[in-house]
Amino acid sequence: MPQFGPYDAILLHDGIFEPPAEVLTHAGGEAMRQHAIAQWGKPRLSMDVNCFALKGPEGVILVDAGTGPAWGEALGHARSALHALGVAPGDVGHILLTHIHGDHALGLFDGEAPYFPQAQILVPEAELAFFTDAAARAATPPARQGGFDIAQALLRAYGPRLRRVVEGPVLPGIAAMPLPGHTPGHTGYLVGDGLLLWGDVMHMATLQAPDPDTGMAYDLDAPTAARSRRAALALAAERGWTVSGGHVPGFGRVEAMGDGYRIAAT
Ligand SMILES: [Zn+2]
Repeated sequence: MPQFGPYDAILLHDGIFEPPAEVLTHAGGEAMRQHAIAQWGKPRLSMDVNCFALKGPEGVILVDAGTGPAWGEALGHARSALHALGVAPGDVGHILLTHIHGDHALGLFDGEAPYFPQAQILVPEAELAFFTDAAARAATPPARQGGFDIAQALLRAYGPRLRRVVEGPVLPGIAAMPLPGHTPGHTGYLVGDGLLLWGDVMHMATLQAPDPDTGMAYDLDAPTAARSRRAALALAAERGWTVSGGHVPGFGRVEAMGDGYRIAAT
């Protein structure tokens, strides 16, 4: 298992999410979008859903928490993956959220109650500010409003155990790296000396690494998301970081390829 600084990093596979290929977007317009859909060639996308356990000297840290039981039987398996590691919910001391979307945050809940009885939840300050803002909710399309309900559930279930974080060190050997666009406070976490867990910088690596202008309907601000995607890919390639995220299959290394990048499995 890969080790970064004081942490063993373990990918917890929550399941596969298969939305229609029409959720693909492209900054270059409709013809480019259709090209991306044709390149995929199937009516539905196939997207890994992951969260991560970091085992260190001071206990177990999670990065995101999967869907829990909320998204049906194809998902929610991160809980059994954690159990298989010998980690009980009460053993988790900290959970770092990349952003407040269901496939990353609903696993925090047991109904309305906290699933993790001891954990502090570290949430990007800008993310919580956005998803608790009534005016922001009113300006967001109804289909994209789920994060606002989850933010309220987070406050109710974890109130005093929520910790707002900004760019820079957040726990020993872990730094927050804002990568906005997918959501306003969307944040990656750099672990030890070279693992970037970049959340939802991309959902379909085979399409989006070679052409970072390919986006998803889930990106609230597509141009900003594309800039963050390019920035994360460039930095990871330059520094030789290992990368993974909410929807990357396994761990990889970013390599420049033509105008874009490829992610080589490690
Ligand atoms: Zn996601």
